[in-house]
Amino acid sequence: MFDLLVSKDLSEMSEEELDSTFVVHEDGVKKFLGRIPLGCIYATFLAGLYIEMEKIVGRAAKGLILSASRNRGKIAGSAIRRRYEKDHGKMNDKKAEMIVKNMVTIWGKCFGWGKIEFERGDEFRVIVKNSLEAVGFIKIKKRGNHPVCWMLLGYTWGLLEGIFARRFEGREVRCEAVGDERCEFVFQTVG
Ligand SMILES: [Zn+2]
Repeated sequence: MFDLLVSKDLSEMSEEELDSTFVVHEDGVKKFLGRIPLGCIYATFLAGLYIEMEKIVGRAAKGLILSASRNRGKIAGSAIRRRYEKDHGKMNDKKAEMIVKNMVTIWGKCFGWGKIEFERGDEFRVIVKNSLEAVGFIKIKKRGNHPVCWMLLGYTWGLLEGIFARRFEGREVRCEAVGDERCEFVFQTVG
């Protein structure tokens, strides 16, 4: 499974193909991604959690979720880089980019985190339709006044930093929760 993740661009694979390749099912239920146990959650669970956190700690809630997600993404990204380099030698940027693209493809097509596309221009851009966090937020509150996809922003951000082994700046510049037609995340190399 790891070999496939790091060897070819998976973004054109269908949901069914990806699911049967990466996800272990038992009794028709998604159980594992490799050896990692999987579970389904309500879209309203995460959004509701953030809303409650904001009641407790105010605007610091975003910073907490973002920072925690970024750290976990970085741990995952660094582990992927280390494992790759152990077998194949130094990872170049082109390979790093393909792996990040593959990861977000799996989140979108196997986990239902939204319809996710990854674009590379002067910066990295991740575009999401029906983001899990935004869909959940809209279900609870209809419309917000700031972007709400903190986990996806933080986790993608950290993953980029771990896989590329350098720092990035990340922002969610559009969000369905504030009425935009899609969520959009921009990541730029620092320095
Ligand atoms: Zn969003």
